[in-house]
Amino acid sequence: MTLSRRFLVAFFAAVVPQVGFADLSPTMEETIASVIPNVVAWRRDFHEHPELGNSEFRTAGIIAEHLRALGMEVQTEVAHTGVVGILRGGNGPVVALRADMDALPVKELVDLPFASKAIGEYQGREVGVMHACGHDNHVAILMGVAEVLAGLGKDLPGTVKFIFQPAEEGTPDQSVGGAELMVQEGAFNDPKPDAVFGLHVFPYPVGVVATRPGGLMASSDFFRITVKGKQTHGAVPWAGVDPIVTASQIVLGLQTIVSRQLDATLTPSIVTVGKIEGGVRNNIIPESVEMVGTIRTFDADTRLDIHERVRRIATQTAAAAGATAEVEIDLGYGVTRNDPALFRQMAPTLRSVAGDGFIEANQTTTAEDFSYFANEAPGLFLFLGVAPEDPSLVYPNHSPRFYADERALPVGVRALTALTLDYLAAQ
Ligand SMILES: [Zn+2]
Ligand SMILES: [Zn+2]
Repeated sequence: MTLSRRFLVAFFAAVVPQVGFADLSPTMEETIASVIPNVVAWRRDFHEHPELGNSEFRTAGIIAEHLRALGMEVQTEVAHTGVVGILRGGNGPVVALRADMDALPVKELVDLPFASKAIGEYQGREVGVMHACGHDNHVAILMGVAEVLAGLGKDLPGTVKFIFQPAEEGTPDQSVGGAELMVQEGAFNDPKPDAVFGLHVFPYPVGVVATRPGGLMASSDFFRITVKGKQTHGAVPWAGVDPIVTASQIVLGLQTIVSRQLDATLTPSIVTVGKIEGGVRNNIIPESVEMVGTIRTFDADTRLDIHERVRRIATQTAAAAGATAEVEIDLGYGVTRNDPALFRQMAPTLRSVAGDGFIEANQTTTAEDFSYFANEAPGLFLFLGVAPEDPSLVYPNHSPRFYADERALPVGVRALTALTLDYLAAQ
């Protein structure tokens, strides 16, 4: 995501002086202030020692030790390296708080004393490893929230489940993992959360807390279309069926789903063909062509509707040419959808935490597996602004130059703490 320089400069002028403003009790603010030095230290340590999905052994070990020291019931090795901590206070509802722990196969290019020099293996290749999506911040923030809430003892009006999740960025072998596997392995059972909150660092200005009701982040599905024709000489096309021309017609047909077929006022959607392959030389019309692509949208029904249209356009365009098309659609992450009622209930809390820095987020066409948790209980996912003040240092998540300004860490701790306490107290 890129924000214009003008927007950033205007925003910093308006927002930064308000970092530090919150509506938590003075005692709570003191407790939070006392854990921030640790949060900063954890974040730097995790940043320097990033681990790829399903290999977060060191990270998970530090988390589990911290949660045990706080007196929590702790489960480890959930969905490989996941950690779940249960903090039981007084009688009341159950809130789940989620942080993802994994890093990316990216070689860090940020000049920091705690920059990553880690090397890992990704799909058989040696790669640099970096917290280029900022999950180091998520883990450190949630460890801080755990310490603050554990300090309340029986004054905590309910139960909090701390969910530290592996492999948000996908599993190394594309198998089921991350949030989906944690849910399958019972992370949301016994006790079952009544609501789930999570956050993601994003290049909004520091101090911003951005979210919106309904679809926040897109669903992301993979498709493969194999067009089968009949191989022939390139000079004698009538003796065969040309899958290259047919595949080209399918590519163009797929582009009419969003531009001509879906209700443009309902929700943004994307159908992208990202790779197309067929043939070996100039004068042979090949037997088949394969294309793969991605489907993104913000609405669960639209998602299924697009799948149906992709199938119909591919098979019927192929049939019109005397070819056949096989369509395979693999479901990826679902829509990260904020429960509208929960959003309405918690918006005043977020306003008190971030002041004018609480803004309506833009929808983003990237995807998040927080959606698996938010399918199990009403969910609210936030973007936490971490863009450094100097616009020349602002890079998107996944960039080797992605850098999160540490001044956002207290805002993250206050946001998740306040959401939890206000939600529990209201029930
Ligand atoms: Zn990411
Ligand atoms: Zn991420």
